[in-house]
Amino acid sequence: MRRSPDDLFTIFARTSGRCHVCHGQLVYTNYGIHGARGAWHIEHSRALARGGTNHGNNLMAAHIRCNLRKGTSSTRSARAEHGKRKKPMSFEQRERALTRNTAVGAAAGTAIGAVVAGPPGALVGMLLGAAMGARREPSDE
Ligand SMILES: [Zn+2]
Repeated sequence: MRRSPDDLFTIFARTSGRCHVCHGQLVYTNYGIHGARGAWHIEHSRALARGGTNHGNNLMAAHIRCNLRKGTSSTRSARAEHGKRKKPMSFEQRERALTRNTAVGAAAGTAIGAVVAGPPGALVGMLLGAAMGARREPSDE
C-alpha cells in the first residue's frame, strides 16, 4: 500500500525509529529497501489474516526481516523471541521519560549531597544528579 511521507513519519515516530518487534534501530530513508541497513516496513501488529486493520495503532514500523519472520504470528510471541514485551517508546514518550529521569536524579542528588556535605553538598548533588538522570537511557522493555 502506498503511504504519504506524513503517514510514514507518524508510524516511524510511534516507536521513535525503532523496530516494534526487536527494538533495533531503523533508518527512515531506507523504508522498503531490502538489504539496506535499518531497512523497514510497515507491519500489521495484528495480521490482516487475523482480523487486523490498515489503520492507526495497528500499523507499526519493523525491520523488513522482522516483519517477514513474524508473518501472521502474534506480536506478543514475535517480541518474546527478542525478550521484549512492549513496543519501543515514541519520541514523545522518550522525551517525557528523560525529563522525569532528570528531575528524579536532581531530587536524589540534592538529598544525598545535603547529607554528605550540607547545603553546598546539596547544590553539587542536585547538579550531578540531574546530569546523571538526563544521561540515563529511558527504559522500554
Ligand atoms: Zn527488528
